[in-house]
Amino acid sequence: MTYDCTVCPGFCCSYDEILLTDVDVARLRAHLGLSEDALITRHTKYGMFRGKARHPLMLKHKPDPHFRTICTFFDLEKRCCTIYDARPDACRDYPHGDTCGYYQFLSFERRLQGDDDHVAVT
Ligand code: SF4
Ligand code: SF4
Repeated sequence: MTYDCTVCPGFCCSYDEILLTDVDVARLRAHLGLSEDALITRHTKYGMFRGKARHPLMLKHKPDPHFRTICTFFDLEKRCCTIYDARPDACRDYPHGDTCGYYQFLSFERRLQGDDDHVAVT
């Protein structure tokens, strides 16, 4: 593994399209103790997916000081997921390998600036 999410400001959680499967919905409902209607109303939205005219269910966003907006379940102070054990498959699978492009960029910028807390914005 060549990345460390514990020191990252959570760039991947700012992706607009965190899609939810039926399994994700069931897991989130159980974790949060919510009805399907409540979960969908409070925490999800239907949106365009990569500009295509279909409307899958995805996680809502909220304002973020670094990345403009970020997942509704992201802790803005601690910069981490508040529902980690129940996170959707899309979050479990990311970044799909042993490297993370953003983390490489972040590490480079932090080294360059001599600041371990620098938040690199793409
Ligand atoms: S952007 Fe990469 S390093 Fe940062 S939280 Fe996501 S997977 Fe982890
Ligand atoms: S559910 Fe958690 S890991 Fe997934 S995008 Fe939201 S905050 Fe990030």
